[in-house]
Amino acid sequence: MSGTLYLCATPIGNLGDISSRCLEALSSVALIAAEDTRRTIQLLNHFEISCPLTSYHEHNKREKGTYILSMLKDGMDVALVSDAGTPAISDPGEDLVRLCAENGVTVTSIPGPVAAVNALIVSALPAKRFAFEGFLSVNKRHRYEHLNSVKNDTHTLIFYEAPHKLKTTLNDMRDCFGGERRIALARELTKIHEEIIRCTLDEAIKIYEEKPPRGEYVIVVSGAEKVSENDWENITITEHVERYIEEGMDAKEAIRQTAKDRNIPKRDVYREYHKIGGERYE
Ligand code: SAM
Repeated sequence: MSGTLYLCATPIGNLGDISSRCLEALSSVALIAAEDTRRTIQLLNHFEISCPLTSYHEHNKREKGTYILSMLKDGMDVALVSDAGTPAISDPGEDLVRLCAENGVTVTSIPGPVAAVNALIVSALPAKRFAFEGFLSVNKRHRYEHLNSVKNDTHTLIFYEAPHKLKTTLNDMRDCFGGERRIALARELTKIHEEIIRCTLDEAIKIYEEKPPRGEYVIVVSGAEKVSENDWENITITEHVERYIEEGMDAKEAIRQTAKDRNIPKRDVYREYHKIGGERYE
């Protein structure tokens, strides 16, 4: 019988956040696969756990994945830990999970800290509906494409960012979302210098003109305002329909409501939305 892959969430700062189930798993598995073995050794030393450790990261995930899978297939249990927080969230863990699932190996999670969710709950922005957007690409064009693709989303958006790229990202967000958009910067969560800055994009840019960003950040961005009678003129018919779809309507309903809001025939909205005669004909 195959072993089990344990996805072990570890602290994102405060070591007191480790769970007893996580300690138990790390103490009992045959191997721990870690994104950064140097960081994980510190964690294991702190909790006096000794267990064989191997690296599993973006640059060796293919060979290491095969090796880890062979151990699991030989009946050994393996724990996967990320740099910090929950594995498979913005790290190569998801590839190992997929490999195990494809090969019939049991995968189970040991829940714990995840920066995105903790940033959301302290942000004071709506938490009922949200999307995790991860890291933006380093490629400027791709970054803008990503931001533009979510600029009309009405739910809260969560981004990860490295401190040396924070200022650029805030500027790019202002270009796409507008300076008035409300955000929360969750810095150094669970650590001594934890700080939550709730402001607009314009205000955040101003703050970091005066001091450099330090530590780890999650950027939580308020969703776009819902369509109101006043802003129909400022958005295209397609954007209008897409906002309703984003709110949960199906396309037919969204087209009907858009036509009603704008007091124009439904078929005009339909033709524009489906780009009949244009590039998006469906
Ligand atoms: N797997 C991790 C998780 O569960 O959140 C995330 C790993 S991702 C490679 C690292 C990013 O998470 C950082 O760049 C930062 O955006 C965010 N992050 C991690 N720890 C954080 C903390 N203590 N405070 C704020 N953001 C943090």
